[in-house]
Amino acid sequence: MRIAYMQRTSLIDYPGKISAIVFTQGCNFRCPYCHNPELVDPKLFTEPMKMKEVFDFFERRRGKLDACVITGGEPCLQKDLAQFMKEIKKKGFLVKLDTNGSKPDVVKTCLDKGLVDYIAMDIKAPLGKYNQVAGVDVDTKAIEKSIELIMASAPNYEFRTTVVKSLLTEDDIIEIGTIIRGARLYIIQKFVASKTLDDDYLTKETYSDEDLDRIKLRLTRTVKSCIVR
Ligand code: SF4
Repeated sequence: MRIAYMQRTSLIDYPGKISAIVFTQGCNFRCPYCHNPELVDPKLFTEPMKMKEVFDFFERRRGKLDACVITGGEPCLQKDLAQFMKEIKKKGFLVKLDTNGSKPDVVKTCLDKGLVDYIAMDIKAPLGKYNQVAGVDVDTKAIEKSIELIMASAPNYEFRTTVVKSLLTEDDIIEIGTIIRGARLYIIQKFVASKTLDDDYLTKETYSDEDLDRIKLRLTRTVKSCIVR
């Protein structure tokens, strides 16, 4: 595992649990609004953490933390992800995986082996606009497969979309709702310009709260629950 760094405590990244977050290095997407460029652009990579340091940390936090959130970058690119999850679960922690859904085989392995308790999958765009929003050619069949697997067998899950107004129209967001029809939870994340992979996105905006409330209302016709945050 190439873990660039960790956040030692979070109250918001695993719903209802106290977690620590590990940030993996490397991603196969190039979303221009990405707020973790140091995990995506190899030119910005730093020396990864020693795995002993990571495992020692979780060992010391037994009984004090509930969960480990694995995010990135794209964690499913890490060859030993399943083994890492296994070690963390063995220490008694819940495991949450954040993924862009491009590697359904990895998602399937994690689910089949009972290594993951919660999956948060980003849905970047309606399938026809995926390449434009993800910044690379994306196999959208893989995206659909991951959605299907997660909805069928994840113990708990959410789908989420970061909304930049210039990239997604209101109807695009509604169309995403149809790809995940029946999903238990869909989260609309307001884009906040702070640090971005593409500097041009530092001046981009999201929709107004009023617009997002209307979009949310429309989405509740296709998903069980929708949150704007
Ligand atoms: S936002 Fe896009 S580029 Fe950034 S880590 Fe996620 S999938 Fe990769």
